Amino acid sequence: MADPEQSDSKASGRGQDTSEAAKAALAWTHTARFLTTASQLDQLPVTELPEFAFVGRSNAGKSTAINTLTQQKRLAFASKTPGRTQHINLFELGPKDAADALFADLPGYGYAAVARDAKIRWQQVMADYLALRRSLAGVVLMVDARLGFTELDKQLLAFVAPRVGNGSVRLLVLLTKADKLSRNEAARALAQAQAVLGELSTDEADVNMTLFSALNRSGVDDAAELLRSWVDAGLKAAR
Ligand code: GDP
Repeated sequence: MADPEQSDSKASGRGQDTSEAAKAALAWTHTARFLTTASQLDQLPVTELPEFAFVGRSNAGKSTAINTLTQQKRLAFASKTPGRTQHINLFELGPKDAADALFADLPGYGYAAVARDAKIRWQQVMADYLALRRSLAGVVLMVDARLGFTELDKQLLAFVAPRVGNGSVRLLVLLTKADKLSRNEAARALAQAQAVLGELSTDEADVNMTLFSALNRSGVDDAAELLRSWVDAGLKAAR
């Protein structure tokens, strides 16, 4: 499933110890800093920087994943404060004077207590963001490994499927809270994800998945390296 061009850097990321490539990638993710927040698509800054959107059902472990990847305890905290839960929060990465990517923390969806109107409104913002945001270069979807893909997760994938299919948006699925799974359960979670993601597969599609745990750090190095490789691939293409 991996992009063949990325296979070298990906292969070097495997293994028990954090590799040099993973260290460099984690040093990069650690540079993440809050940029701005917006409740509507047209309030987001227009940017040439590649943007990676973090999406998932509420409680899927999205904030924890962002905080773990960036090694910052409270970075994704803003997204949890009342009044901000329906906002898109943008973070900037890279050198202070030469940012090279943005992370977009999108509101969690599927929270039962949210009123129907708010849900429908939010669904529209999400669909528009995923279909129209020009700088969107990648989607990181958090799925609770014990629950697997829900209908809302599949709907979200459907919103972005055309852009994944033509290779303009890359996809990484983090099967979160993997520390709670037995070996068998983990294998089952991967197989289910593989089946769902198989439907997105085309010659151009760059679709990736990994078990992920903030607790035992599984998948953290690989995810950071993959995101970094997406930036590098964009820089190479722009040259
Ligand atoms: P969000 O609503 O998607 O941002 O989810 P949170 O990051 O707030 O996580 C929801 C719950 O899952 C919290 O109680 C977290 O402590 C827990 N959680 C998140 N990641 C992990 C993990 O890797 N392992 C375990 N065991 N729990 C996790």
